[in-house]
Amino acid sequence: MKTYRIATIAGDGIGPEVTRSALEVLTEALGSSRIAFEMVEGGATHYQRTGEVLPESTFAACRDLDAILHGAAGLPGVTYPDGTEVGNELHLQLRFRLDLYANMRPIRLLRGVRSPLRDFDGGGIDYVVVRENTEGLYASRGAGVLLRDEMASDTLVVTRKGTERIASFAFDLARSRNGAPRDGTSRVTVCDKANILRSYAFFRAICDEIHASFPDVGIDYAYADAITVHMLKRPDHFDVIVAENMFGDIISDLGAATVGGMGISPSGEIGENHALFQGAHGSAPDIAGQNVASPVATVLSGALMLRWLARQHDDPSLTDAADRIDRAVEQVLATGESVPRDLGGTASCTEMTQAICRTLAA
Ligand code: ATP
Ligand code: MG
Repeated sequence: MKTYRIATIAGDGIGPEVTRSALEVLTEALGSSRIAFEMVEGGATHYQRTGEVLPESTFAACRDLDAILHGAAGLPGVTYPDGTEVGNELHLQLRFRLDLYANMRPIRLLRGVRSPLRDFDGGGIDYVVVRENTEGLYASRGAGVLLRDEMASDTLVVTRKGTERIASFAFDLARSRNGAPRDGTSRVTVCDKANILRSYAFFRAICDEIHASFPDVGIDYAYADAITVHMLKRPDHFDVIVAENMFGDIISDLGAATVGGMGISPSGEIGENHALFQGAHGSAPDIAGQNVASPVATVLSGALMLRWLARQHDDPSLTDAADRIDRAVEQVLATGESVPRDLGGTASCTEMTQAICRTLAA
């Protein structure tokens, strides 16, 4: 049986704490003979020490091993000599150098977690936001134009290739899921502003073209402003939402807030043959080093990683382990055995980790 080798970057802030937790849970679920974590350095703290954000040896490990698990990157106040923030440069460099074009953010309300949407406590929120990760309105990142200190502009880039691949990813994902909670129907909702901007109309047209190859999956459309209302009023309608880079960024944070917040929301950034997994939250420097961060987002990201590896390597034993991790997290929260502070409980990061591991071992 294959031993999966995971390039692991703890990173900044709460990164090391939540990464340690995910490692313990993944090892408990799979056994140490099936998964090996190779710790590699990088990020803002590492830059402070060495002057390097992403050492070449770290990049090589991320490129050559089976997947990447990441804690969090970025620490306010750490700057390059020209005064600009290092921020999450590590993460961005990996995203672009490995062309991780699909950012998937599952939005699922777990049993035992109270949603701020009263009507949906107890279930009914289970969809995935698929965010295009390499172009859109963030394409000119750092290269926008400032004209005589009077005007600034950035460019919204939508390419055929970029949209075809993100749309195919979204339809393919919808095909592999159980459909929306309300009606069990598989569908992709295209989130855009096709009524205002030509680039978004092009995005929608290409999603339509790709849809022709997925006749078993439905399609509908929502403008980016209207979708925020639907996400609050009828989140059970959604199965998979596909969106341009900035819209996807914004609506996935909104979605996370409806199911318990950033500390519970996982994410995966997927390319052709590479993928990086991390919690949807940042490095949360305000609570770093205090053992109070919730490890749940990173643990669930680890489960997402196992599902991706299962498909890449046609290995159902990994899907089984991912199912067990998801169930263990849900059980710990539902029974109230251990609840992290951001969900209203008192459990520390290590107590949460131990509770999940105990449930897995039972
Ligand atoms: P980034 O710019 O990297 O997205 P951010 O400024 O959006 O970072 P986050 O680090 O995502 O900020 O977190 C915002 C706040 O939410 C944190 O300051 C922290 O209080 C809380 N938070 C984030 N992640 C967690 C977690 N895993 N557990 C508990 N609280 C968290
Ligand atoms: Mg943020």
